[in-house]
Order: sequence, then C-alpha cells, then structure tokens
Amino acid sequence: MTLTLQGLEASIAAVLGLLIGSFLNVVIYRLPKMLERQWAAECAEMAGKPPETAAPFNLMVPRSRCPHCGHMIRWYENVPVISYLLLRGRCSACKAAISVRYPLVEVATSGLFFFSVWQWGATATGAIWCAFAATLLALALIDWDTTLLPDDLTLPLLWLGLVASALQWTPVGLHASLWGAVAGYLSLWSVYWLFKLVTGKEGMGYGDFKLFAALGAWFGWQALIPMILLASIIGAIVGIAMKFSTGLREGGYVPFGPFLAGAGLTALILGPTALRQAIGL
Ligand SMILES: [Zn+2]
Repeated sequence: MTLTLQGLEASIAAVLGLLIGSFLNVVIYRLPKMLERQWAAECAEMAGKPPETAAPFNLMVPRSRCPHCGHMIRWYENVPVISYLLLRGRCSACKAAISVRYPLVEVATSGLFFFSVWQWGATATGAIWCAFAATLLALALIDWDTTLLPDDLTLPLLWLGLVASALQWTPVGLHASLWGAVAGYLSLWSVYWLFKLVTGKEGMGYGDFKLFAALGAWFGWQALIPMILLASIIGAIVGIAMKFSTGLREGGYVPFGPFLAGAGLTALILGPTALRQAIGL
C-alpha cells in the first residue's frame, strides 16, 4: 500500500481527533458543572447574598484528578487510548476502574476526523465537518448524562452551519440552510407545545429545538424529516429497551438530544441524500 496524500492527511486528522476527543471528555464532564456553578452564583446574587469565593473551575483549571482517590493525573497517564490500555483501565494509585467511555470518545472522535478529512481533504470543508462531529459527540453525552444541551454548544453549531453554507463550504445552499434552521426549531417547538397541551408534560427541552435547528442549518430543510424519523425510531428502541432492562433511570426519562445528534452524525457519514433515499423520500 502506498501512502497517498489523502491517507496521510486523514491519518494526521485521526491523531488530532484523539487529542480533541481527550479534550471533549473534559468538556463533557466539566461544562455542565461549570453551568451549575454559574446558575448557583446568579441565584445567590439575585437573592442578595454575598458572592461565594470558590476555587476556579473551568476547562483548564484545576488539573484532572481521579474521582475516587484524588490522585493527580500525570501527563503520561493522560495520553489518549494508550494510557487507558497501559493502565488496564485502572487508576494507577487506587486501582479504581476508569470508565471505558473515555477511550471510546477518543476513538470515536478520531474515526470521525479521519472520515471527514478522507472525504473532503485538509480543506475548510474537512475542518468544519470535524468541528461539527466533535460538537455533536459532546452534546450527545452531556445530554445523556445531565439532560442538558448547553447553549454554549448548540448556538455556535447553528451559526457555524449557516456561515458554512454562506461560504459554500457545504453543498447546502444558504436558502436551504436558513429555512432548515427555522423549520428545525419551529417543528420541535410545535410538537413540544402540542404535547404539553394534551398531556400536561414536557417531552423535550428548548435545547432539542436549538440542536434540531442546527442540524437544519448544516443539512438543509430537506434533511429534517429523515433525521427526525431516524432519531425517533432509535430513541424509541432505546427507550423501550431501557424500560425492560435495569438501565431505567430515575423518572424513566430518556433525553432526545443523543438521538438527534446520532441522526446528525449518520447524515454526515451517509450523506443527507442517502438518508432521504433510505426512508423512501
Ligand atoms: Zn484513584
């Protein structure tokens, strides 16, 4: 096998994907906690309480520690995938198991980066699809863990989709992208209110509307129906499976965001046209 430029670029992207995946693990774990701290501080301020002086907590500070024993994770224990394998999935100090999800997120990011650069080369198009994939991965897991879809991720994703089509980095025309964003938001917003009026319950959150608007911006309005069908079918299967397994969480609530994100990643890999054809549209 000869090493082509395409293969070389995609391989470099795959390595970069491992590093970004490692960073995504931090985002997934810390961003919801950062938001909770921010909300608590805002509530305290409104209640007229003096602001608490807490130690800084953001994506960079403090350094990562083992959640079980507080062991400070050294740089060589933090090499994507390799450290997990060398440590055999255990903390070097207390031998507590490290979640297999960390290396899986790194491998998934790496694979998506490889795919994007293989497909579109080391171009602006390749780079923005990498950003798209990384953001969706983070959103899916944050929503799964906390049922939050932070605006800090959904809104930039939406804007980037619109800008990418305006600059013709994606084949979706600006028109289709803009109406995709509008229709994506309004469709789920309508379902939410209809569901709420009929059942008195909230089946989704505003984050779902923003995420679906973002997917509309990236793939155009034509891809919205295939994506919502795909997300609903997989969501229903997982929801039912969880009801019958011990995986049922408190309140039995399964967030919808991970399935929307999954539909977006499927559209990235198969192409939105194939997605439409697959369900006969
Ligand atoms: Zn430990």
